[in-house]
Amino acid sequence: MKQSKCSICSKIPDEILVDNDKGEHLPQSANKLEVLSSIGGIRKCPKCSQYYGYVYDHDVLTGAGPGYSDHFLFRISDGEAVERIKKTVASIEGSLERMYAKLREEELYPDEHVKQVEPEIKRYEGELGALTAEK
Ligand SMILES: [Zn+2]
Repeated sequence: MKQSKCSICSKIPDEILVDNDKGEHLPQSANKLEVLSSIGGIRKCPKCSQYYGYVYDHDVLTGAGPGYSDHFLFRISDGEAVERIKKTVASIEGSLERMYAKLREEELYPDEHVKQVEPEIKRYEGELGALTAEK
C-alpha cells in the first residue's frame, strides 16, 4: 500500500473510530488530510493521494444520557473513491435539479447557491479525471 511510507498516512490506522465525548480524538495526522467533500465524506492525503472515507455522527436527539460524538475514518481504495465521488456528484446534481425546479416555480434565481456548488463539482470532475488517468 502506498501509505505505508507516507509521513502523514503511516500513522493513521486502516480504520479508526473515536468518540470526542469520551475524550478520544483522531490522530493529529488525520487533520492534515484534504477534505474533498463535506457531503460525501471523502478525504485525501495531500502527500501520497491515499483516499479515506469519513463519517461523523453525533447524538442530537436526546439531551439526556451519555451522548456521543463519533468520528469514523477509514482507508478506501482508488476504485472505492471513484464510486464515492460519482455518488456525491450525482447527489449534488440531483439536489441542484430539484432546487432549480423549485426556484423556477417561484420565479427566483439560484445564483448564490450555484456559485457555491459549481466549484465543488468541478473539483470532483478534476479528481475523477486524475483517478482514471492513473490507470
Ligand atoms: Zn499519505
